[in-house]
Amino acid sequence: MRILITGGMGFIGSHLADAYLKKGDTVYVIDNLTTGSLSNIKHLRQNPLYDDRFFTIVEDILNYEKMEDLISRVDMVIHLAAAVGVQYIIDNPISSIITNVRGTEIVLEIANKYQKKVLITSTSEVYGKHTHAPLRETDDCVYGPSSRFRWSYAAGKFIDEFTALAYHKEKGLPVVVIRLFNTVGPRQTGRYGMVIPRFVKQALSGAPITVYGDGTQTRTFTHVKDVVKAIMLLMKENRAEGEVVNIGGREEISILSLAKKIKEMTESSSEIKFVPYDVAYPKDFEDMQRRVPSLEKLKSLIGYTPDTPLDDILYDVIEYFKRWEGIAW
Ligand code: UDP
Repeated sequence: MRILITGGMGFIGSHLADAYLKKGDTVYVIDNLTTGSLSNIKHLRQNPLYDDRFFTIVEDILNYEKMEDLISRVDMVIHLAAAVGVQYIIDNPISSIITNVRGTEIVLEIANKYQKKVLITSTSEVYGKHTHAPLRETDDCVYGPSSRFRWSYAAGKFIDEFTALAYHKEKGLPVVVIRLFNTVGPRQTGRYGMVIPRFVKQALSGAPITVYGDGTQTRTFTHVKDVVKAIMLLMKENRAEGEVVNIGGREEISILSLAKKIKEMTESSSEIKFVPYDVAYPKDFEDMQRRVPSLEKLKSLIGYTPDTPLDDILYDVIEYFKRWEGIAW
């Protein structure tokens, strides 16, 4: 099988490339290195076993010709390239919208032209401001006003979902849409605001662990290897075509408890410091108070749900940062 992974030099994409290569497939990755990095795939490029079936292209997904050339060569496309991370979205509002909306349109348009199976990556952010749990794929999506830029990410990804489903409905394009909840693991950087790599890095270096707000907001976390497994199973399941599916973790934890747990696991002397939202984020920021997925649909489709316990996820991230002490981010 030949697979194109857009955003394949990013955190999730590089793990996915790893898994498909291990399976014996041919993998093309395209990435503009905005948040991705060549170091994420260095080990794959250096592996002689992959010499003739791993191809890396440093280019933007908005380059239509390049995308057409790549999509026409492969059997399926996994579209992960996106502007991600709350901080990045807020700092780069125009390019984020163009990458996330126009980029996905290009992928779908070309995949449709060549009738290639495609996976579109959406996000738990599309649920918006709910506090109930668990969040089901059929729930309403509730956003704040357009003056609050955080919601541009959710709105853009929501349009991506509609576009994907429209191609499925109108043209019969085999498309799967996933809503990823907070995903963590080795190679994720804290540079764009992601909480676990930030807390681990802070704890290991003795810097204050920065809890935003009062720390009562909650999340679940999924190990990237479980996300990769779920994606690969979904791509093999015909019943997933034309569906939107949550992929996320099960253990709900408050951000304050997370900070305490990381402090304990790293035996850190760091203080836990509360940072008000208006200091942590630009004006008019709104956080999501709670975000817990329903995994029923995922389970019914592939018979699997992410199962790595939070402690093991944290252990992996801590070990990664210890090995890469001094890593720049
Ligand atoms: N957060 C925090 N301190 C940090 C970074 C993030 O308290 O240094 C909080 C953030 O406000 C949010 C949660 O951790 O409530 C998860 O943030 P992240 O950016 O990882 O993902 P999100 O779920 O917001 O997309």
